[in-house]
Amino acid sequence: MITYQPYTLRNFREIPQLKERLSAEELFDIEVVGNVLPFKANNYVAGQLIDWDNYREDPIFVLTFPQRAMLRPEHYAEMSRALKAGARKPELKLIANKIRLELNPHPAGQLAHNVPMIDGVKLTGVQHKYRETMLFFPSQGQTCHAYCTFCFRWPQFVGMNELKFAMRDTELIIKYLRANPQVTDVLFTGGDPLIMKTKILRQYINALIDARIPTLKAIRFGTKALSYWPQRFVTDDDADELLALFEKAGQAGIHIAFMAHFNHPNELQTDIAAKAIRRVLATGAVIRTQSPVMRHINDQAETWATMWQKQVELGCVPYYMFIARDTGAQHYFAVELERTWRIFRKAYQKVSGIARTVRGPSMSAGPGKVQILGISEVAGEKVFVLQFLQGRNPDWVSRPFFARYDPQAIWLDGLYPAFGKKQFFFETEYALSRKPKPVSRLIKQKIPVH
Ligand SMILES: *Cc1c(COP(=O)(O)O)cnc(C)c1O
Ligand code: SF4
Repeated sequence: MITYQPYTLRNFREIPQLKERLSAEELFDIEVVGNVLPFKANNYVAGQLIDWDNYREDPIFVLTFPQRAMLRPEHYAEMSRALKAGARKPELKLIANKIRLELNPHPAGQLAHNVPMIDGVKLTGVQHKYRETMLFFPSQGQTCHAYCTFCFRWPQFVGMNELKFAMRDTELIIKYLRANPQVTDVLFTGGDPLIMKTKILRQYINALIDARIPTLKAIRFGTKALSYWPQRFVTDDDADELLALFEKAGQAGIHIAFMAHFNHPNELQTDIAAKAIRRVLATGAVIRTQSPVMRHINDQAETWATMWQKQVELGCVPYYMFIARDTGAQHYFAVELERTWRIFRKAYQKVSGIARTVRGPSMSAGPGKVQILGISEVAGEKVFVLQFLQGRNPDWVSRPFFARYDPQAIWLDGLYPAFGKKQFFFETEYALSRKPKPVSRLIKQKIPVH
């Protein structure tokens, strides 16, 4: 049994494996990048998930330790100069924030556009974008057991406060759920909501159970705890109480679903991870898995096929394959849409039907989750065939649409309608839904300039 030991910028040089293997320059690189993008590791990730003999190529090393190339050279140079000159905290923060603002800290307009109201009160800490599912950001769950270097939630971990969601109160949420019976799912997210102590989480869950909202069918947890700290479900002193809480919700008729982040099969290979999964499943909860495709971490079809097979073997259900989001170090992690689709297809073809529950590859963009169905030729034009898996308007879902083929495209805002059309079918409505900023970046970029 091990006790949780987090490592941050303050104490990362004490990590035994780092001390032993990394050069002074490599340690300094971590410091430079870690001053701009969030960094947190722990003794389980460092001690059991990384192959230190080959750490430079190790996917979990890249996943958790800041890499020099994650910053553009000019940004790297600026921060490194300041550190070498012995700049103090306030100055470092100023430089960091300037760089951060250039890294699209707020993709898909999360903060401004999806916060609902009830009785004239804004539900800060709630996001409601897709009809059936409400996201809930409990204030005590806004951190993780370690941080992924690619995380699109990175601004909240570096204290860009105006970008932070958080909520303490369940009363308003319950009111909102009663007023909106179309919402069947509440998805607890963060950070990682399962970083919360059971006694805190229990208050939220009990409030939802006790409210007996007949239209509330599922409580979901977006979590990476099974990967970064499986001890949460096995040896932590409140692990058993946590599992009992899941069981109680199930008995009250509320399905518990994990949206579990796993980025690489190596996260599933330890005994404790398998044990944690077994214990969660024994409560009646279902574990669905998701991950983006990331260069340097998992951009190989074999990796995905192995991961899905391993997940199924452990009783999990592969759910989403995502495309690297347009934020943070996207230039470092991005895989072209075409190549992502090829990885998906090849991996999908390798696994049996019970692992083909996975959907993707999908972009979580402003208008919705857009899946790349494939590349095809229609009426003599090479096109991407796309469809919404989730849409701001549910009516957009499952309608194939077409974008001009572009081998370099990495995100929706780089795609243009096929067949000489001026806009995609959803764009006018999407622009209207985004008042008072009617012209979205997405659309502005695509108005033809003749
Ligand atoms: C993905 C996502 C959900 C959940 O969507 P499902 O397809 O039901 O899993 C909910 N809200 C937002 C904002 C999302 O991005
Ligand atoms: S676990 Fe999720 S929220 Fe936490 S750092 Fe990783 S991607 Fe971000």
